[in-house]
Amino acid sequence: MAVKKTSPASTSPYLTVVVPLYNEEESLRELHGRIVDVMKLIGKPYEIIFVDDGSSDRSFQVLTDLHAKHKEVKVIRFRRNFGKSAALSVAFKEAAGDFVITMDADLQDDPAEIPELIAALGETYDLVSGWKKKRHDPLSKTIPSRFFNFVTGKMTGIPIHDFNCGLKAYRHEVVKQITVHGELHRYIPALAHWAGFRVTEKIVQHHPRKYGRTKFGISRFFNGFLDLLTVLFTTRYIRKPLHLFGVWGMVSFLVGALIDIYLSIEWFAGRTSLSNRPLFMVGFLFIIIGIQFVSIGLLGEMISRHERDEDTYSIRETLK
Ligand code: UDP
Ligand code: MG
Repeated sequence: MAVKKTSPASTSPYLTVVVPLYNEEESLRELHGRIVDVMKLIGKPYEIIFVDDGSSDRSFQVLTDLHAKHKEVKVIRFRRNFGKSAALSVAFKEAAGDFVITMDADLQDDPAEIPELIAALGETYDLVSGWKKKRHDPLSKTIPSRFFNFVTGKMTGIPIHDFNCGLKAYRHEVVKQITVHGELHRYIPALAHWAGFRVTEKIVQHHPRKYGRTKFGISRFFNGFLDLLTVLFTTRYIRKPLHLFGVWGMVSFLVGALIDIYLSIEWFAGRTSLSNRPLFMVGFLFIIIGIQFVSIGLLGEMISRHERDEDTYSIRETLK
């Protein structure tokens, strides 16, 4: 992939507000009204990109009407429900603003947070992720979510509390650089961090869902963790698969070798008979698994070699 443009054109709006939505007909007008109120206070040019992720209710009609009445409103409509990640992805391609805010359509995120989120970017940060410190969701959601955030924080090494918050502020170049495929919207802070952007978090207000119901069921947690593997794989280890497989392969090999060396010595010394020592087989198993892991890592290295130079960096600016 070629290096993308890193700074917006001079005529670009100050802010792009991105709203992915799926069957949220009841809240769209109110949400739009509240964004407009905030933007009046800010007093700078802006656009709002609504992405209708294949809604089957009247969401699109409401958006068509908003679009007819307000020139700032842009609407992208998917042919079917492709998911929140795809919705964010397409909006990121379109976004022209110097800053980009993403927020959910269900009024759980508060547009009044926009100015402070942008302010939090300051000179230092490229992405500010909202932290719903006091959440208004059922316990069945908040407890697994805490666990998810804890594990993700540990695994990725990024110290933030709420990876999946819909409300985030980005500099233009962040949304042009990162690609949110699959279901990876839950890991945007990690994707940005690994691309070299400076990521922080800010506590934001959170409201109970007013209309409709959540679009993500319990499957989110299983999928969420499988996605963590994908994220670690495609970002952290894709350039060095041997580092992941090799380490565990060597550990397994060593454990197996130690067990079998010990048993062999015992056998030589005539203190044991190997035919009644199942541990000997366990040692063998560890050795074989170890060799397999190292081989998989090496194969991975050979495959990844072909794409070594692509997309391994992200340029902040160029002086010419
Ligand atoms: N959403 C979407 N596509 C989907 C599922 C959800 O665009 O397939 C939108 C949804 O309309 C909302 C946001 O993503 O604007 C967050 O979804 P939801 O409120 O259901 O998630 P929760 O707040 O329960 O985590
Ligand atoms: Mg919600």
